[in-house]
Amino acid sequence: LIQPDSGTVAVIGLGRFGGAVAESLVRLGHEVLAIDERAEIVQQWSDRLTHVVQADATDASVLSQLGIGEFDRVVVAIGTDIEASVLTVLAVEEAGVGEIWAKAITAKHGRILHRVGAHHVVYPEAAMGERVAHLVTGRMIDFIEFDDGFAIVKTRPPAEAVGRTLAEAQLRTKYGVTVVGVKRPGEDFTYARPDTSIAEGDLIIVSGPTMQVETFAAIT
Ligand code: ADP
Repeated sequence: LIQPDSGTVAVIGLGRFGGAVAESLVRLGHEVLAIDERAEIVQQWSDRLTHVVQADATDASVLSQLGIGEFDRVVVAIGTDIEASVLTVLAVEEAGVGEIWAKAITAKHGRILHRVGAHHVVYPEAAMGERVAHLVTGRMIDFIEFDDGFAIVKTRPPAEAVGRTLAEAQLRTKYGVTVVGVKRPGEDFTYARPDTSIAEGDLIIVSGPTMQVETFAAIT
């Protein structure tokens, strides 16, 4: 069906999340084997993905027929049906896959997935909810948090920095954050330097420990 190599990924479950994962992987140039148990879902995706198979992924023998054990990376994107999600991760783990990514709905669900062999558990709804909370409450225009408590945000500069260079504004000393880029309206982003000046209407990219970045983005 598909000859797995280091670039191939199997995605199990083509709901909203799994579908987006599969489609992005294809766009990034990867070969994707997509699996879903529902015929109409398989039908829907068959013109957008090259390899879409209708199968029940909780069935270890079906997975072995599909050669799942040959894949380096598998994404289990079944969420709502927790039993199917757990059994699928278990079957994929037993097939000997080295890197299993799985979507969880709740923290408890995530703990079980880790226990049965998922190497990476993601919580798309919770993660997006947190991101949106940051965007609606602060001056942040975009927010990315890494799992080690470090974040990067795109935000408007605080009033105290406007009309000053970054060296003069002393934002790192005062707030513990680093300005890494500045964007003038209608221009491209430039890397921040000590002599970069900040003007009204600019956008800045700031990095640092999440708490410091949040505090910084809340000041005006
Ligand atoms: P989302 O919230 O991202 O849409 P869902 O959990 O609703 O995620 O979707 C999961 C997808 O996984 C559905 O399309 C469903 O048909 C599929 N699925 C559920 N159980 C199995 C299974 N045992 N084998 C294969 N696919 C499954």
